[in-house]
Amino acid sequence: MISFARQHLARFLPPFLSHLVHFFFRKRYNMGDCIFCRIIAGQAPADILFRDDQVTVFRDIHPAAPLHLLIVPNRHIPSLNELQEQDAALMAHLLLAAKRMAAEQGVDKHGYRLIINTGIQGGQTIFHLHMHLLAGRPMRPVG
Ligand code: AMP
Ligand code: ZN
Repeated sequence: MISFARQHLARFLPPFLSHLVHFFFRKRYNMGDCIFCRIIAGQAPADILFRDDQVTVFRDIHPAAPLHLLIVPNRHIPSLNELQEQDAALMAHLLLAAKRMAAEQGVDKHGYRLIINTGIQGGQTIFHLHMHLLAGRPMRPVG
């Protein structure tokens, strides 16, 4: 919602004011220089397949499977560790977006894997909460 407002507000402003708006939002909402926030704000390139007021879905730049999507909340939440009780509906929305993308991409019947890496040992490299959707090849059992 915030990123969405930021994007639309900034679009109608001259460049120097637009930079000021983005600077304010980054400081106010503790976004730092987050690549996913920049993608969501339309400031960095990405192959976006879906977006609404809560979630953006784009292709992973280094695909680990024939279909590799990232399902990302538009609001900057660093990781699952920072998720709050009041974010329950947002997470349900992310899961439903994943299910819909799987169906749209035609991988729902064969199957797919959803992954949320959390923290350093969890393999998280981008500290903006996201869900990986992997499909298009057999996945090894986790255990
Ligand atoms: P994780 O390791 O779970 O934090 O996943 C981060 C993912 O983001 C990795 O699979 C990266 O390949 C992907 N990634 C990093 N930068 C970009 C980008 N600019 N556009 C799309 N995907 C990216
Ligand atoms: Zn972010």
